[in-house]
Amino acid sequence: MKLLKPLFDNNRRWAERISKEDPTFFEKLAKQQNPEYLWIGCSDSRVPSNQIIDLLPGEVFVHRNIANMVIHTDLNCLSVLQYAVDVLKVKHIMVVGHYGCGGVRAAMNQDRLGLIDNWLGHLRDIHRFHCAELEPMTDQKRFDRLCELNVIEQVSNVVSTNIVQEAWDRGQDVAIHGWIYGINNGLLTDLDVTIDRLHGRNFA
Ligand SMILES: [Zn+2]
Repeated sequence: MKLLKPLFDNNRRWAERISKEDPTFFEKLAKQQNPEYLWIGCSDSRVPSNQIIDLLPGEVFVHRNIANMVIHTDLNCLSVLQYAVDVLKVKHIMVVGHYGCGGVRAAMNQDRLGLIDNWLGHLRDIHRFHCAELEPMTDQKRFDRLCELNVIEQVSNVVSTNIVQEAWDRGQDVAIHGWIYGINNGLLTDLDVTIDRLHGRNFA
């Protein structure tokens, strides 16, 4: 407990700072959350959603797992997605990958790390699907590109869920975006694969 005291000290200072700027901030947040965004990102400690897009608590709903994957049998991720779309009615869902992703690297190198190898099997599938494009590349290029291709695949996985398809059938506007983050410069890049209700019906 003593070891973790600095974290509690940080927390007290942070809450004071926020309250100083807006004395009713936490009171308002306690009543409801009304985020416009769902962020699906990697668990990597260097890719913290709110800090990267400089948003306060309450502004972004978040799901993170290793290598920012949306797997159709993952009830955890699907539950987050369903709640975000059906209840919170978010307007934008961003799948955010990052260069230098340890999960992508482990899949590419066929590393054996234990239980996680099964999770990373999805990434090995993506590598195989895009073998013709990836094979001629240098290791670094291939690594970067696989990080990007993973984001693009996960965007298509979000789009093909019945959650998004049914939302679009109801006329609900929700757009799915694919972004990638540079851990070496702190910058986000839009991979230009955005799909919305009017432009994504044939995608699934
Ligand atoms: Zn990662």
